[in-house]
Amino acid sequence: MTDNTNSSAPAPAFPGGTILGYPRIGRMRELKRALESFWKGNSTQDELEATAKALRAENRDRLAALGLGKTDSSIPSNFSFYDHVLDAAVTFGAVPERFADLRAADGSVDLAGYSTIARGQGDKAPLEMTKWFDSNYHYLVPEIGPDTTFALSSNRWVEEFIEAKEAGFLTRPVITGPLTFLYLSKAADEAPEGYQPIDRLDDVLAVYVELLAAFKAAGAEWIQIDEPVLVADIDADRADVLANTTKVYNALVSAESRPALFVAAPYNSLDDALPVLKDTGVDAIGIDLVRGSVPSGVDLSGVTIAAGVVDGHNIWRTNLDEALAKADQVADLGATVTIASSTSLFHVPHTLQGEEHLGEELLSWLAFADEKVAEIVTLDTAFTQGEQAVAGALGEARAALQARAEHPGTNRAEVREALSGIEAQAFERSDYSIRAAAQDARFNLPELATTTIGSFPQTPEIRKARAAWAKGELSDAEYEQAMKDEIASVVKLQEDLGLDVLVHGEAERNDMVQYFAELLEGFDVTKNGWVQSYGSRCTRPSILWGDVARAEAMTVEWASYAQTLSDKPVKGMLTGPVTILAWSFVRDDQPLADTANQVGLALRGEIADLEAAGIGIIQVDEPALRELLPLKKADQPAYLDWSVKSFRLATSGAKDDTQIHTHLCYSEFGEVIDAIDGLNADVTSIEAARSRMEVLPAIKDHGYERQVGPGVWDIHSPRVPSTEEVTELLQLAKDSIPGKQLWVNPDCGLKTRGYDETNASLKNMLAATKAVRSA
Ligand code: GLN
Ligand code: ZN
Repeated sequence: MTDNTNSSAPAPAFPGGTILGYPRIGRMRELKRALESFWKGNSTQDELEATAKALRAENRDRLAALGLGKTDSSIPSNFSFYDHVLDAAVTFGAVPERFADLRAADGSVDLAGYSTIARGQGDKAPLEMTKWFDSNYHYLVPEIGPDTTFALSSNRWVEEFIEAKEAGFLTRPVITGPLTFLYLSKAADEAPEGYQPIDRLDDVLAVYVELLAAFKAAGAEWIQIDEPVLVADIDADRADVLANTTKVYNALVSAESRPALFVAAPYNSLDDALPVLKDTGVDAIGIDLVRGSVPSGVDLSGVTIAAGVVDGHNIWRTNLDEALAKADQVADLGATVTIASSTSLFHVPHTLQGEEHLGEELLSWLAFADEKVAEIVTLDTAFTQGEQAVAGALGEARAALQARAEHPGTNRAEVREALSGIEAQAFERSDYSIRAAAQDARFNLPELATTTIGSFPQTPEIRKARAAWAKGELSDAEYEQAMKDEIASVVKLQEDLGLDVLVHGEAERNDMVQYFAELLEGFDVTKNGWVQSYGSRCTRPSILWGDVARAEAMTVEWASYAQTLSDKPVKGMLTGPVTILAWSFVRDDQPLADTANQVGLALRGEIADLEAAGIGIIQVDEPALRELLPLKKADQPAYLDWSVKSFRLATSGAKDDTQIHTHLCYSEFGEVIDAIDGLNADVTSIEAARSRMEVLPAIKDHGYERQVGPGVWDIHSPRVPSTEEVTELLQLAKDSIPGKQLWVNPDCGLKTRGYDETNASLKNMLAATKAVRSA
């Protein structure tokens, strides 16, 4: 262990019972509203600051009321206006050149500038956004080049600490660690070949040292440094990652003036990084014992461990006995243990209060953020004072868990029997060549067939109709008519434009997962269970609590109505099993694979019903296939195996002349290309416009024999691509893939677009197709 002589006093005791972070958006999404109003120019920076300040105060008060200590550093301060990785970049002054004019003389940016970096403005593209580990949260990717200057450029973090202190709270500031910050950054455009952001480690470290001193001077006793990157197999040599871990934490531990250092590593096991971190002498280490496991064979004597035994990533009530047993196991390795959440709680909604409609039974199986804090307090009491001190709470938790296990809905004989009766051939279709011939004969589509990904703009009128229907102001029949009118207009538009394969437009879907969750058995939906997806954007994941079954057809009526309006094929539209799981809170009492297969089987029934209604082309979207990819390489093959199987279970009952499409929303294709091949879809549409068809050579090299639709229009912005631009992309695509195998489509669904740009862009897309067909 490093001799820690530089810090004058021994570390203060680590707080008993803590959480790694708390939702930032507010119970009533106050921050979302305040941000959006600020962006629209309806409120000032001061008003936005005031809302944020009130929110921070409210959160602190609530956490104290729930039992976290007010003055022992157990309340984390992890507020962010938009994203915590962006906060780190702005604090360290790592702002890309194109935003240089947003910086004040001291290097700081105000909230307008901060928003511009996050969201872009005019010709200033925002920072890229990507998924945060294996969650549905998106962070902003810092751009770090050889010339990026690092300097402490914002006092915000320290000021927030002082703000809490003045209100009588000694909080624990939470910051993104140097390793996570640099490994998640991308090289700035101008960086030379071979350069990596991590090359700048020494420069960044200097700023962290300065920051630690500032926190210490402000009176912080503990600081939490998040290093989730240490649990993931990333695109870097592990030996280098570990060497850098030693370097960083040796340096921070021996910093002249600093609070006690708590390094948190959520989302999986630290594995070989645990002993490395321990040897640096950091004052406490947070480990995830929900996704990760209890370390084995590590001597943890003298180490303080925050045992993450309460799931920060899912909403189920904790098995308190199991949690205590895990904490005991860690203590047996010699560690001084405190109870903690496995991750920040920002992945779960604020509170179960207001969700009474879920029913007492389901409610008693759940714990959102506030209920998890209460669990941690209970566990901490049990751990430090003995179980008898909280016997009542432990008994209540046991009873709820037992009721959940015994509930008929979590174990339905007919669902289980249907699944166990499935044979290997249920996962297979005829050879592709046979299917292709049957489909060609049936649809006789031209080369470079044109289509869209499914949704058309969700107009304010559609949303209004749905809201009125939910309130009972619109009858079922009136709502149905409103949706049918919308479908008719979308079909007419596509016919006028001359698309080859039409869609019904998904007007009736509030959300591509929730729509199905509301119709399938085994799910429930919350009223106010919002979680931050990125910035001000929140999603309301459904709760998949029981065995899944389909009571009745879910999409047939809409699709077949659309089909009556056109002689062209209308594509049926379903969301795939993996995506339904990824964007819901999924039961944790059985393997994900089993749950995925239950969903797969339900979708298989839906596909049969669509076929029976005459729908011959059916798309099963799996935009989340990449998102659930495990963080550890060793776990990936098993995941890819079950995820592909669930898709095949859903789709392989289709007849030879039914054309199965799938859609995937991202372009990092290389790593999952075998899985995509394994899906065995007849047609796969993917995102490709922004990367200028970068993925195609990989597909070509893979020897992909089925059809692909690389997106030719980046639908993430209102920009209309010109005919020339689309022509060029199509030509590029044709260089890699024979025209016979190519489809023409946008990158993704159009639900977030307006009709003006949709019309103009589709028109250009069709003109380009014409040009390339006749070239
Ligand atoms: N069919 C969906 C749509 O068009 C697909 C959305 C997605 O890939 N996220 O909206
Ligand atoms: Zn998509």
